[in-house]
Amino acid sequence: MNQHRLEALAEKICGKALQIVITTHHKPDGDAIGSSLGLYNALIQLGHQVQVITPNDYGAFLHWMPGDETVIEFESSPEKALPYIESADLIFCLDFNDLKRVNELGEYIKQSKAGKVLIDHHLDPPGFEDYSYHDTSASSTCELVYRFLHSIDLSELINHQVAACLYTGIMTDTGSFKFPATTPLVHRIVADLMERGANHTRIHQMVFDQMGENVLRFLGHCFTQKLKVLPQYKTAYFTVSAAELDQFALKTGDTEGLVNYALNLEGIRFAALIIDRTKLVKMSFRSKGNIPANEFSRTWFEGGGHFNAAGGQSSSSLEQTEARFLKALAEFAPKILTAES
Ligand code: 5GP
Ligand code: MN
Repeated sequence: MNQHRLEALAEKICGKALQIVITTHHKPDGDAIGSSLGLYNALIQLGHQVQVITPNDYGAFLHWMPGDETVIEFESSPEKALPYIESADLIFCLDFNDLKRVNELGEYIKQSKAGKVLIDHHLDPPGFEDYSYHDTSASSTCELVYRFLHSIDLSELINHQVAACLYTGIMTDTGSFKFPATTPLVHRIVADLMERGANHTRIHQMVFDQMGENVLRFLGHCFTQKLKVLPQYKTAYFTVSAAELDQFALKTGDTEGLVNYALNLEGIRFAALIIDRTKLVKMSFRSKGNIPANEFSRTWFEGGGHFNAAGGQSSSSLEQTEARFLKALAEFAPKILTAES
């Protein structure tokens, strides 16, 4: 954001009490909820009326963050959410830059007269917003919320509640501080968040060590029965049917992270998870090094995302989607096989 616009926004935020809506992408992950509730816990300290609205529900492992009980899920309660959007002075759009990523909520956001502030680290250039705090090299939107609060001189709002939320999103979006975007600055930010009261052990436990027995058994099933390894493409992937989701009684968020296990394999550089979500087949792609997972997703599966972590979809059956995936992979293979490690 240029300095002039940032100052105008800062003046607004530091001025009279505002009605503020914070929203994020559908199927929110740790970074989406962490950045939304991190910003929420900061802005309420200024006396604003702040409402977080998510397009739909999210995993139980994210429901512990401070302020979570105030969140409205649009899909299940549109009548509660819409009045906030209609009367908002400012709408913060976090961790996405394409209104399609918020489903039906997108149209209401577009039509709202509120000033729209985008804070995001995804690649495709944004366009609908009035203010943009956007950096594709940032590890996470949580990192950007931290930097945004500093850049408008409001870092004193980062109390232990804000710190816990922002730590969570940085941790989940960096694969626990492993992915290439984990810069020295990220570690400095995380150190500051710990000094401000983020309890890293508790956060790791809340996010990673609260798995239901059914989920662990589902993972076992995937590892033993569903993993397919294609050494000729340095690729491994899983398919999951609607019947399996049912059999293991999986809920939103329970399949998160599964795709990453395929990348744990020696010699594997590209991984996919193909899930039959009944209405659509949803796909996750992960890559190592300079293999563009987002390009793969964009080219064949109407998707996009980050360079090494992307997602897409297909309206064909699970079997047809898998066949298309294999065809796409054969074309894409040179990019995997010539990639540097
Ligand atoms: P996941 O595999 O965890 O669902 O998504 C990984 C990343 O890919 C997300 O952070 C998001 O940026 C992107 N992504 C997932 N699904 C889609 C999609 O359908 N369209 C686009 N454009 N991006 C997606
Ligand atoms: Mn993110």
